[in-house]
Amino acid sequence: GSDGNYTVTLIEGDGIGPEISQSVKDIFSAAKVPIKWESVDVTPQLKDGRTVIPDKAIDSVKTNFVALKGPLATPIGKGHVSLNLTLRRTFNLFANVRPCVSIAGYKTPYDNVDTVLIRENTEGEYSGIEHVVIDGVVQSIKLITRAASERVLRFAFQYAEDVGKRKVRVVHKATIMKMSDGLFLNIAREISKDFPQIEFDAELLDNACLKIVTDPTPYNDKVLVMPNLYGDILSDMCAGLIGGLGLTPSGNIGDECSIFEAVHGSAPDIAGKGLANPTALLLSSIMMLQHMNLHEHADQIQKAIFDTLAEGKYLTGDLGGKAKTHEYAEAIIKKL
Ligand code: NAD
Repeated sequence: GSDGNYTVTLIEGDGIGPEISQSVKDIFSAAKVPIKWESVDVTPQLKDGRTVIPDKAIDSVKTNFVALKGPLATPIGKGHVSLNLTLRRTFNLFANVRPCVSIAGYKTPYDNVDTVLIRENTEGEYSGIEHVVIDGVVQSIKLITRAASERVLRFAFQYAEDVGKRKVRVVHKATIMKMSDGLFLNIAREISKDFPQIEFDAELLDNACLKIVTDPTPYNDKVLVMPNLYGDILSDMCAGLIGGLGLTPSGNIGDECSIFEAVHGSAPDIAGKGLANPTALLLSSIMMLQHMNLHEHADQIQKAIFDTLAEGKYLTGDLGGKAKTHEYAEAIIKKL
C-alpha cells in the first residue's frame, strides 16, 4: 500500500496450521513488519454441484496478490479434489520454488546444502486425467504443454539471475519420456538463449538423485527445474538432507498472485499439542517478505531464527529438543 502498509491474506489451515501461524503472527508483530493479516476460511463449499473455495477467500488473494498459507488436509479417496490443487489452479500458480539450506545447530550428514528446486506446478502427472481402459487396465496421462513449460522455465532462468545462481539445470527422463520430457528439455534449450549469462545443462532424474545424496555441494550454484512429479519427490529428498519437513519452505508463484507455504502437511499426529515446529512456515513467510521487497525485515527475522536454532536451547521435538511451539517463537523474538 502507499502508506507503507501491506495487507496479506492468511490461510491458517488445518491441524498444526493455527499453531504455527500464531508463531508467524507473534514474530512479525514483534519485528514490526508493516503487514496487516487478513485471515480467510477456505473450507470448501458446494456451488452448482461443484466443490469450490469460498468467494471471500478468492477475492482476498486476488486483492492482496500475496498469501501465506498453512497446511490443508486432503481426505484420501472418495473423489475429493485436493484444496491445494484447487488453489494452484484458481490462481494459476505455475511455479513452485523450494529452497533447502543447511541449518547450523542441526546436525545432518552434510552441513553445506544450499539447493533450490523449481517444480512445474500445474500439469504433468498432476493433470488428473486417469481412466479405466478395460477392467484391470488403467491409464494415467502425463500432460506437458509448451505454454506451461515455457512459463516455468523462463521463471527459473529469471529466478537464477535474481538470486545470483550461476546455472540452471533441467532434471528429466527424456531418454524414456522422449516426447513429453523431450519437449520440456527442448524448450529449456530455446529459453536459455535469452539468458546468455546463465549456464544451462540437463541431468537425468535418477542420476541427480544419486549425485545429490552422494555430495550435494555441486548443486549449490544451480537452480534445478523440472516437471511436476519429479519436483515433488526430489524436493522431499533435498528436505531430508537438511533435517526434514519441519524446516522446508516454498513459494507458489503465479502471474499475479503468489502463495507461500511450508512443504509439510497438517501433521494430525501432533496437532493441538504445541509440539509443531513453525520454522518451515516462518521461512516461507521470509520468502514472502523477499518477494514483497521487504528485505530488511526478512533478513532480521531470518537471522533471529538461525541464531535460535544454532544456539539449540529452544528446539522443538522434531529437532530433538523439548521446547513448545510458543517457547521457540519467544526465543526468536528475544533475538530480534
Ligand atoms: P505431514 O507433513 O502432515 O506429516 C508427516 C510427518 O511429519 C508427521 O509425523 C508430522 O508430525 C511431521 N511433521 C510435519 N510437519 C511438522 C512440523 N512443522 N513440526 C513437526 N513435525 C512435523 O504429512 P501427512 O501426515 O502425510 O499429511 C497430513 C495431511 O496433510 C494430509 O491430509 C495431507 O493431504 C495434507 N498435506 C497438505 C499439504 C499442504 O497443505 N501443502 C502438504 C502435504 C500434505
